[in-house]
Amino acid sequence: MILHLKKSISDERATEIANSINAFHFKKEQHVLITGAAMKEVPGAIAGEVEGFWVFDNDIQLASKKYRSAKRSVSIGKTVIGGESNKTILIGGPCSVESEDQIRESAELIKGMGLTTLRGGCYKPRTSPYSFQGMGLDGLKLLAKMRDEYGLNIITEARDATHVEEVIEYSDVIQVGAKAMYDQGILRACAKSSKTVLIKRGFGTTLKEFVQAAEFVLSGGNENVILCERGLRTFETNTRFTLDLCGVAWLQENTNLPIILDPSHAMGLAYGVTPLSKACVAMGIDGLLIEAHPNPKVAKSDAAQQLTHTEFKELLEQVIPVAKAVGFEMM
Ligand code: PEP
Ligand code: MN
Repeated sequence: MILHLKKSISDERATEIANSINAFHFKKEQHVLITGAAMKEVPGAIAGEVEGFWVFDNDIQLASKKYRSAKRSVSIGKTVIGGESNKTILIGGPCSVESEDQIRESAELIKGMGLTTLRGGCYKPRTSPYSFQGMGLDGLKLLAKMRDEYGLNIITEARDATHVEEVIEYSDVIQVGAKAMYDQGILRACAKSSKTVLIKRGFGTTLKEFVQAAEFVLSGGNENVILCERGLRTFETNTRFTLDLCGVAWLQENTNLPIILDPSHAMGLAYGVTPLSKACVAMGIDGLLIEAHPNPKVAKSDAAQQLTHTEFKELLEQVIPVAKAVGFEMM
């Protein structure tokens, strides 16, 4: 259950009430309390102090359309996505930050195309410990340099809770990867900040589990959460994963969070990324996350799926009319 206390309730009294019903508690315009969905009635003892309450069938609560019917607006640095904007942000950049020259070329591509947001990983959640693990802090500093020099927003991932503070310092969005999505240490650390968090769906994660990961962040008081669908593991082996567009339709119908799609990781092969992007944009989404590399052949991670810069420019040209057809605009 979500309860809004009356605005006249003091901070001390709100804490007392929250403790008495074992609720998560944060303050925005008023005190917001969240208990498990098992609670169906406001206890009589506090009824006079409650302004409004919402009852749920399951623990998708703060992210639910039943609580807030309007899609949330969430900022990516200086850019705002979601809300009623009907804009689809194109986010680009390499899988990994590899060198200053490489990330500068990427920054120049994004800036040159009139886009706003550069993404690159520095703490890479690789499946093998022997693969390139990312440049770590040195990479974060390069991203921050690109942010300062080119005025771009930066998205990069925290592989575990120990990276969250650094990522907050050097970037505009904390990406929580598909493998880290179940790590409550990272989710709780993100919840303590007001920095925007982009949560990627695990490849074996139900929609309910996915949104509950978002609830960990939201219930800590961080309302800036974006969901990212990036493909599920199915019986199919010809493509890397299977992009769950049905799931996207479900999320759009049932949650109030902005949604970004990542066809690069879903397909795993560059040739499919542009056609899939058209299908994604046709769903009226808030963003598209695409991997592009100055020279994909020599990329240190996810080489097969990264577009060349020429292909990335062509992708934008191809999705612009699709966005327009569904009443959206690329940005
Ligand atoms: C990535 O974004 O480069 C990445 C590793 O993605 P995912 O967590 O979706 O596998
Ligand atoms: Mn990648």
